[in-house]
Amino acid sequence: MLGRIGDSPSFARRIRAINKFPLTAKGIDILQINLGSICNLSCRHCHVNAGPARSEIMSRPILAKCLEVLSSLPIATIDITGGSPEMNPHLEWFIHEAAGLNRRLIVRSNLTLLLDAPYRHFMDVFTQNKVEIVTSLPDYMEVKSDRQRGAGVFSRVIESLHELNLRGYGVAGSGMFIDIVHNPVGAYLPGSQAALEREYHARLLAEHGVHFNRLFCLTNLPVGRYLDYLIESDNLDDYLSTLCRSFNPAAVDNVMCRTTLSVGWDGSLYDCDFNQMLGLTVNHGAPKNIMTFDLEKLKNREIVINNHCYGCVAGSGSSCQGTTTGI
Ligand code: SF4
Ligand code: SF4
Repeated sequence: MLGRIGDSPSFARRIRAINKFPLTAKGIDILQINLGSICNLSCRHCHVNAGPARSEIMSRPILAKCLEVLSSLPIATIDITGGSPEMNPHLEWFIHEAAGLNRRLIVRSNLTLLLDAPYRHFMDVFTQNKVEIVTSLPDYMEVKSDRQRGAGVFSRVIESLHELNLRGYGVAGSGMFIDIVHNPVGAYLPGSQAALEREYHARLLAEHGVHFNRLFCLTNLPVGRYLDYLIESDNLDDYLSTLCRSFNPAAVDNVMCRTTLSVGWDGSLYDCDFNQMLGLTVNHGAPKNIMTFDLEKLKNREIVINNHCYGCVAGSGSSCQGTTTGI
């Protein structure tokens, strides 16, 4: 993906043509912390190649450094991701410490682990610390979702959602939020986020009796296991053409890297977790590890871009918080 894009211009050339090059950060509103690549699942769409066989895990000293940075700066959102964050033995401690900073605290959980020992207590940990949960559900139809994530995953997510609803998650007025990420189960762009959100709400309530808050549409970027899928299914060229053809200039200003800093399991710093997967650390003079954090050099850094970035500006735009334009 980094080296080839068929007949289309490179992403850098494309944004230069609309006077958006170089792409630069405009501050750090979100610190996204990747606790490691271990996961109990091996979803087909996983762009970080997480799975049970992985062993990378963020250590306590790096997590402590993240807390030090967060406590010294007004970064509004702490976004904890993985792999399965619950499989990092320091997660409970980190949540308690992070909750004390009074920021928006997000954990991206696949929910399936929350049903079993030794992870069940995270239902309480999340609830007591008012953690916002973001979870993936590629489709509201079990057969389609399980095709992407593995047999039986959908029903376990629904079971977990029931329990979380009982604790107030997704219930209007409770102040407890659970959002769902939708990404296409194939080589195409997501549909309208607003329409899909209505459909998800209606179908999940009618068929499974579960509530959630918002739906975020995420375009699959051609990296990690999703890239493997595109190659194996002979869809890579068509998908790249779709991304390039759907280039939306209005989405360029809102790409998430402009306000997010991503921390890898070993403390390495990235503009986003797609770059993390590709091994593209921050560059252009910015420090490459949280241990040498320097706000002045990071807050307006030049973003490291390549052709995978087409995925963030295709159609309505895509980010960890869903679409980025009102289209
Ligand atoms: S998509 Fe999420 S749940 Fe699935 S393998 Fe990757 S990290 Fe695990
Ligand atoms: S892939 Fe990463 S660096 Fe590229 S536009 Fe998207 S968020 Fe920014």
